Amino acid sequence: MVVHNSPMMNAIGTLGSHCALQVLRGAKDEGFKTILVCERRREGLYRRFRFIDRLLLVEDYRFEHSFSESVQNELHDNNCILVPHGTYISSMSIEEIESIRIPFFGNRWILRWEADRALKERLMLEARLNVPKSISIDELNGSSDGSKEARLVIAKLHGAAGGKGYFLAWDRESFMTQYNKLLSKGMVKSIDDLYIQEYVLGVPVYLQYFYSPLNREVELLGIDRRYESNVDAIGRIPALQQESSGVHEVSYNVIGNSPLVLRESLLDEVYRMGERFVSAAERLVKRGMIGPFCIEGVYDQDGRFIAFEFSARIVAGTNLYVNGSPYSYLLYDEPMSMGRRIAREVRIAIDSNELDKVVT
Ligand code: AMP
Repeated sequence: MVVHNSPMMNAIGTLGSHCALQVLRGAKDEGFKTILVCERRREGLYRRFRFIDRLLLVEDYRFEHSFSESVQNELHDNNCILVPHGTYISSMSIEEIESIRIPFFGNRWILRWEADRALKERLMLEARLNVPKSISIDELNGSSDGSKEARLVIAKLHGAAGGKGYFLAWDRESFMTQYNKLLSKGMVKSIDDLYIQEYVLGVPVYLQYFYSPLNREVELLGIDRRYESNVDAIGRIPALQQESSGVHEVSYNVIGNSPLVLRESLLDEVYRMGERFVSAAERLVKRGMIGPFCIEGVYDQDGRFIAFEFSARIVAGTNLYVNGSPYSYLLYDEPMSMGRRIAREVRIAIDSNELDKVVT
């Protein structure tokens, strides 16, 4: 363990969920004090881990509890830097996230570009990524002229819902049936709550990057694929049995992540995509991209990458590599998780008096 030599003993903190264990373990390995804002019901889990120095217990992760005045005061008094992750985005509004007084590692302003589908698409196009076509409901086959081509689309909810509520549709009717189900469950209020995109057939791949504004380099630290229920289970049932088993709906609820290494010949383009993303963010977003991000998509049958998403912060798939990944091993002579890489960047920035370059 490295002893932190900054005059001000900073702490790194986050919300207890998503990738908190990895982030705080990495922070501890880099010599920081670690703080977890933790839902009461999860206390038992997080108390098991000795690298967590302090638990601030809250009722739940809604903003008014997780970042109440008293929690923020406590974090402030401990010189804490927060690491944002997917749970922030799924349990708070962007306005609430932006209003938190504690410094964030990374760019808090870019989270809005992740959460808003239109901004997201704009940034991905600016980065010259191949993106699936976004579709309006009028373009779905089955409208009055009946001449539109049939095509498979995926309808998504806004925000980091972990794939919950997503559905596939192939025409207006199949879309409306499933939309009405979400409506009756209260998961959407109108069609505007859904983003419809062309479905791309291929192998889903999640590319985990880190961009350092200190040395202006993009690092590829890991690659994963998700295991989603029930879509990844359906393929195990032959088509005939699928028909008769009554499985008519797919869902994309993320259950876990599996490691993946790519054909080496694909890696050059992976790095280029990451670099194009960083320079696009520099052009479009105040403060640009800082720290971890992920480009998410599928490789089609011709080995072409089509990107359907990005996350502008650490993703949970990095939890696979708490002890380093095949890609981090090529860059570092020590186990380097994404959580540890974040803490390392904070430490280097403090030591070189450039903390303002990596926090917002
Ligand atoms: P997302 O929340 O956009 O990461 O999507 C959740 C899951 O839906 C992904 O992991 C993919 O399995 C699937 N998915 C999303 N968009 C597409 C697409 N355009 N084509 C094919 N599969 C997709």
